[in-house]
Amino acid sequence: MKEYDFAVVGAGPAGASAARVLAKHGASVVIFERSTMPREKPCGGAVSTQALSFLDFAVPEHLVNAQVFGAKVHFQNQSTHARLEERIAVLVTRAKFDHFLLSKARECGADVVWQEVKSIERHRGHAELLSPCGTWRARCVIVCEGANRRLARRLRGKDPPAAQGFCIKADIPVERAERYTDLKETIDIYFGLAEYGYGWIFHHGSFYSVGVGGLCSRFTAPLATFYAFLKERHIEPGNGIRPRGHFIPCGGIKRTVCADRIMLAGDAAGFADPFSGEGIAYAIRSGHLAAAVGLKAAEEDDFSYGGLKDYQRHAEKTFGRDLRHSFLMTRLMHAFPRLFLSILCSDKTVLQKYLAVTAHTLSFRRFFAFVIVRIPGFLLEYTLLKKS
Ligand SMILES: Cc1cc2nc3c(=O)[nH]c(=O)nc-3n(C[C@H](O)[C@H](O)[C@H](O)COP(=O)(O)OP(=O)(O)OC[C@H]3O[C@@H](n4cnc5c(N)ncnc54)[C@H](O)[C@@H]3O)c2cc1C
Repeated sequence: MKEYDFAVVGAGPAGASAARVLAKHGASVVIFERSTMPREKPCGGAVSTQALSFLDFAVPEHLVNAQVFGAKVHFQNQSTHARLEERIAVLVTRAKFDHFLLSKARECGADVVWQEVKSIERHRGHAELLSPCGTWRARCVIVCEGANRRLARRLRGKDPPAAQGFCIKADIPVERAERYTDLKETIDIYFGLAEYGYGWIFHHGSFYSVGVGGLCSRFTAPLATFYAFLKERHIEPGNGIRPRGHFIPCGGIKRTVCADRIMLAGDAAGFADPFSGEGIAYAIRSGHLAAAVGLKAAEEDDFSYGGLKDYQRHAEKTFGRDLRHSFLMTRLMHAFPRLFLSILCSDKTVLQKYLAVTAHTLSFRRFFAFVIVRIPGFLLEYTLLKKS
């Protein structure tokens, strides 16, 4: 039986990021990944400037399909467009991006085992990871298995449909959607397609990432909504386009993310922005935080809940408050769509502030406050307009 200080389950952005930090600091680390990399992952492929700022290395140019400086948002017959001086995101192909992140973990000495972990058993001095080809032993396990959460479920139960989203997307060659050739360096977001969700068109250069998503409890017909969205936007899916769906956690809800010898990171911990669906930044950041707490626990030889519980505190302090404000904003937006979505989709300055959140120059908390103080003025303007 092979023994490691740390075992990481899942080689997505959370797992690769955690493993890199651990290995860089001299710990012995093994990553388990059930798919061979590069593997496909349903995703819009937008990696925010915030996410990039968390990496201690640059993403090579050849992995960047396009740069994003602005967004155009639509709700019913309203739309507005804003652009920032600074880049707000890059668009990547997830298969290549995730493969690259994994190579950065391996570069520091992390081992990879291409196996699915079927279960984790915790014992007094170690944890055992069971896979079809054997059993591994580690002092601590970081579970980064994504939103399906087969292993994490044991720790914190099943997420109710109101705490989980579902997105469906496909990559469509640009020649099937000529109307969108003006979208360079800008992403398009369409609200009002699904409750607690939206549709997107991201221009990657040679293809568009087109998708729709919404909260599981409200999003009853994802595939039909997806095809209706394509039709409405005059995009011809053609033969051979394979829409793929995946769950996404609704962040901003309090969840248990650690226990004796185990920490959860990324989607497995429920860390994704409930408003935008952005998860890569939180996956990277939470992977780093879990690794830092794990290293401290190793020093003190205390992998009990008491030794790891700082992870929950650090995650809360670093981005928990922002995710909670995003959750609140999402609830308000969709409870009063005419009011909130109209403000976002008609007032350029509001959109500009939102882009600053993505660019990492403004917190979601401040953006929330900015929107709230504009409501009375907006209501007054709306009432006066209606009267005239
Ligand atoms: C359609 C869609 C579009 C999205 N678009 C964006 C976007 O544009 N920008 C953004 O920031 N976020 C986006 N997200 C969210 C983002 O994809 C996730 O938040 C992010 O991938 C989470 O990273 P992770 O490392 O936690 O999990 P994942 O990236 O899901 O990686 C988990 C890995 O664990 C492996 N695994 C699972 N179980 C096991 C096991 N038992 N044993 C071994 N390996 C296992 C899986 O094969 C996988 O490779 C989108 C999500 C969806 C569904």
